[in-house]
Amino acid sequence: MLKILATRLKQGHRTVEYPRKNSELTERFRGRPLLYPTKCQDACRSCVDACPVDAIAKNPLTIDLGKCLLCANCMEACPSGAIAFSSEYERAARTREGLMVTGTDSMHPAPLDKDMRKLLGRSLKLRQVSAAGCNICEGELVATGNIEFDIGRLGIQFVASPRHADGILVTGPVSTNMEYALRQTYEATPAPKIVIACGSCAISGGPFAGSREVRGIPKDIPIDLFIPGCPPHPLTLLDAIHRLIGGRKSG
Ligand code: SF4
Repeated sequence: MLKILATRLKQGHRTVEYPRKNSELTERFRGRPLLYPTKCQDACRSCVDACPVDAIAKNPLTIDLGKCLLCANCMEACPSGAIAFSSEYERAARTREGLMVTGTDSMHPAPLDKDMRKLLGRSLKLRQVSAAGCNICEGELVATGNIEFDIGRLGIQFVASPRHADGILVTGPVSTNMEYALRQTYEATPAPKIVIACGSCAISGGPFAGSREVRGIPKDIPIDLFIPGCPPHPLTLLDAIHRLIGGRKSG
């Protein structure tokens, strides 16, 4: 026992300082895209041709973050340095249009309205629906609960039953079989409820888009928060959900 305590003392405090301080991520991390349209050559289509998911368009130069896998093929293919990726993990939007990147603006989702925040009381219980993805988003969601990120300290928890939840968080492109399960879970969640689409699959189908089995989140289920990425980093998830409940207002 004493040995364990001594080891813990030696290890010190491991939880990231978010939201008091932004965490530094490694150079390899690809955060929000940065587009410089003035550097883009009109006739060049290298980036469009390099994109595996049709997420990039020209005139004006635009990346649809709802589709983007953050593979950086476009950056490598661009001969004029018009595309880069920041190391910022803050990257989410309240609307689908908010995921269309055309420049270098930051992407901080607005909080829920005052009544909803009052009802939630700065805490949020979510039921996660894994709707036929590859499970990498689930891996990052599990990581948000570990000692390093500790999402619970921000009042955000994942619960077993939709009956106990304030909303649902959906991952995966939603296959034909999972559409029914998603709808049942949504209907079992008491109103008013929020819906979060997590990862490019839940937002656009991601690399599975175009498959006859992919249904997507049904149009009649309104989405309150879009968290793009393939997968989103635990800090991206933490920051986006925390901002949604009004926990972080600064830029
Ligand atoms: S980083 Fe995104 S936009 Fe660029 S090539 Fe990869 S998927 Fe396409």
